[in-house]
Amino acid sequence: MAHDQRSGKIAFVAHCLLNQNAKVEGTASWPAMVAPVIDLLSQADVGVVQLPCPEVEHLGVGRPTGEDTKEQYDTPEYRACCRQLAQHVVGQAQQYVNAGCQVICILGVEGSPSCSVTTVPTRNGPADGSGIFFEILLAEFRKADLQVPVVGIPEAADMTQTLDQVRRTLPTPHPMNTDQTSRTSDQD
Ligand code: SF4
Repeated sequence: MAHDQRSGKIAFVAHCLLNQNAKVEGTASWPAMVAPVIDLLSQADVGVVQLPCPEVEHLGVGRPTGEDTKEQYDTPEYRACCRQLAQHVVGQAQQYVNAGCQVICILGVEGSPSCSVTTVPTRNGPADGSGIFFEILLAEFRKADLQVPVVGIPEAADMTQTLDQVRRTLPTPHPMNTDQTSRTSDQD
């Protein structure tokens, strides 16, 4: 582990929790970032690694809305794209772990056909299970023997309970977090 000011704690966070501009037209609930979640991580000195948005990678930013269900995206091509992205992410996670960092949590987005954690939209309504990308991503984390708590953020609903769930995964903030002006900084 490096001997400097870094906390050595990171979270892997669904792309649109940091960038709502990636959402399908008509589904963004926030102007830019989902601030309560990002603030929580920042206050706990947890670095944020932004996951790729699999739908943008596969279909582009201006992708059509469609029915926005798991079935809509469930094609061999999309699964192959998700697998490739997931393997890259797990490679990154492994590098951080090898460098002495701890992956604190992985945050998905409930209600997404791709990034849901526990409840995914289907043609028959909400169903138990993960979205396609998270299904594959979490399997890759398990394959790499990386045990990390996973929380799904309900962007468009009351987040109180979910934020408590995230909070339970977080370390106690570094004392210096109460005095931002006293942090030292290097050139890079
Ligand atoms: S939930 Fe996942 S697929 Fe949907 S916009 Fe966010 S990152 Fe992209």
